[in-house]
Amino acid sequence: MQAAVGQNTWHMDDAGSAPLSPSLSARARQAAAIVGKPGSYKICEGCDSIVTRRVVICPNCSGYRFNTRRKAVIDQARILGSREPTGVTAEDML
Ligand SMILES: [Zn+2]
Repeated sequence: MQAAVGQNTWHMDDAGSAPLSPSLSARARQAAAIVGKPGSYKICEGCDSIVTRRVVICPNCSGYRFNTRRKAVIDQARILGSREPTGVTAEDML
C-alpha cells in the first residue's frame, strides 16, 4: 500500500505549492500584493513591519519613522513572505 511514495507524491515535489500552513499562504499572498504595489506601502524602521502608506504611527511599535523606498519595500515583502512561522521547510524533507 506504499507504492505511491516517490516522485509523484503531490506534497513533496515543490515546497512552494505545498499547503504547509494557512498562515504561510496568507503571508505569501500578502507579500505578492505588496510586491505588486510597493508604492502603497512603507517599512517601519522600528520593527521592520510593512504598513500601508496611510498610517502615520506604526500599529506594532508606535514608531513614526518609515522607509518608503520601493526597492526596500519589495525586498522586505519577499523576506516576510518566505518566512515560515512553523519551522517546516523544504530542508526538513531532504
Ligand atoms: Zn514598527
